[in-house]
Amino acid sequence: MKTKFITLIMAFIVFTITSNAQETEATRLLQEHNKEFVPEIFKFGEKVHFAVGYDVSNVAMIEGETGIIIIDAGMSPIRMEALRLKFREITNKPIKGILITHGHGDHFGGIQAFLDEGSNPQVWGRSGALGNDTGFNIEANAGEKAGLTYGNVRGGRQAGIILPDSIHINNGVAPKPDKQRTMFTRGKETAKFSPTHLFTEERKQIEIDGVKFELVAASGETYDNMYIWMPEEKILFCGDTYYKSFPNLYTIRGSQYRDVKSWYESLDKMQEDKPEYLLPGHTRPVIGKENVNTTLTNYRDAVKFVFDKTIEGINKGLTPDQLVAYVKLPENLASLPYLIEYYGRVDWAVRSIFYGYLGWFDGNPVNLNKLAPKTEAEKMAKLAGGENKLKEMAFNAFEEGDFQWAAQLSDYLLELNQNNKEIINLKADALMEIAKTMITATGRNYTNSYAIQMKEKIKE
Ligand SMILES: [Zn+2]
Repeated sequence: MKTKFITLIMAFIVFTITSNAQETEATRLLQEHNKEFVPEIFKFGEKVHFAVGYDVSNVAMIEGETGIIIIDAGMSPIRMEALRLKFREITNKPIKGILITHGHGDHFGGIQAFLDEGSNPQVWGRSGALGNDTGFNIEANAGEKAGLTYGNVRGGRQAGIILPDSIHINNGVAPKPDKQRTMFTRGKETAKFSPTHLFTEERKQIEIDGVKFELVAASGETYDNMYIWMPEEKILFCGDTYYKSFPNLYTIRGSQYRDVKSWYESLDKMQEDKPEYLLPGHTRPVIGKENVNTTLTNYRDAVKFVFDKTIEGINKGLTPDQLVAYVKLPENLASLPYLIEYYGRVDWAVRSIFYGYLGWFDGNPVNLNKLAPKTEAEKMAKLAGGENKLKEMAFNAFEEGDFQWAAQLSDYLLELNQNNKEIINLKADALMEIAKTMITATGRNYTNSYAIQMKEKIKE
C-alpha cells in the first residue's frame, strides 16, 4: 500500500514537471507570437496606410486623387467602424473602391461599416470555380447549398469562441477575440454580400481614382483568391497566401480541398512581380526587396516540398499515417520564424493532399472492412483482460503523462459506455494536457474547446 502511494506521488511529480515543461515551450512561443497582432497603422509611400491588429485580418486604405480605396474589410462591422474612424483622422475623402482578396468572412464580414458611408464604391472580387459553382465566396456557398451547418461548430472550436482568457492565447494568425467578442460579430447583411465587380481573367489591370492596380488570380486557400499588385509602388497585397506561420494548407474546421499545388504556384507568380513590400492578410508586413524575395522563396519552397514529398510517398504506396512520418520539413525551413506551425501544420497538410487526390481509402484493404468502433472496443477490453483492466491502463497512462494514449484508451471505454462520467473527465483532462503542448493555435483551441464541451455535457 505504502509503495503504491509513493509510486503515485512520484508519478505526480514526474507528471507535474513534464507537463509544465511542455506547457512552457509551446505556450511561450505562441504568447510571443502575440506581438504580430499589436495594433499599428503603417504608412508606405505617400498613399498606402496599412492597419494591422484592429480585427482578425489586416485592412489597407489607399489615398487616390479625390477618394480612398480599401483593401479587405475585416470580419466585424463593430471593429471596422472603429478602424473607419481611425482612417477618417487621416483623410475625409469618400470611398471610391473596395478590393477583397478572397471570399472568407474574416476579410469581408466588416464591409458594412465602409458601405454605410453611402458613397457607392465599386467592390472587386475574383470569380473562382469550385465544381459546378462559380463566383465569389464559393466555399461557403457550396457548403450552404449542400445543407452543411456543422462547419460552424468546428469553426467555433478552432477559433476558441467559448474559451476563457486563461487558456486562449491567439488564433495562430489573428488575435483572440476581445471580451465583448466584437471580433466575431458579423452583420447579417454580409452573409449575402457579393462584389459589384468580378474578374475572371488571369490578370486584370484596373484604375480607381487615379491609382493603378493589377488583380491577379492566385488560388490557394480558396478558389476565388487573388492578390493585388500596385506596380508603381511595388506593393503586393497577398491575402492569405502568405502570413507569418506555416500556411494553413488544411483547415481543421473542414473545407473543400485547398489546392496546395496552386498555392505554391501563386507564390511563384507573386515573386515574379518583384515586390518591395509584402502586405499580408494577417500578421505584420514584410519590408524590403531582398527580405520579401527571401521570405517568398523559402515559403514557396516549404509548400512545394510538402506537396512533392507527399506525392513521392503516395507513389511508393504509403498510407496517410505512414506519410506523416515520411514528410518532414527540412530543418533549414522548419526553423524559420515564418514557417513555425502557429496556424497550419505539416502533417495535416500531408493528409489533406492524400485525401485531395485519392479520397478516404488509404490503400490498405484491412480498412475496406473496418470493425465497428464498439466491436473493436469490446475486443480491446478482452485483450486488456477486461473492461476494468482497460480502465486501469487508461488512468495509468494519464498518470505517466502519456496523455494521447490515455485519450485513445478513453475512446474505447466510451464506446463501451458513452455516459461514463469518470472516463469523460479523464478524456477531457487528457485533451487539455495535450492542448498545452500544441503550438498550432487552431488545434490547441479546438482541443481545449472540445474538452470543455465534454465536461459541460456531464454537468447537465
Ligand atoms: Zn484570413
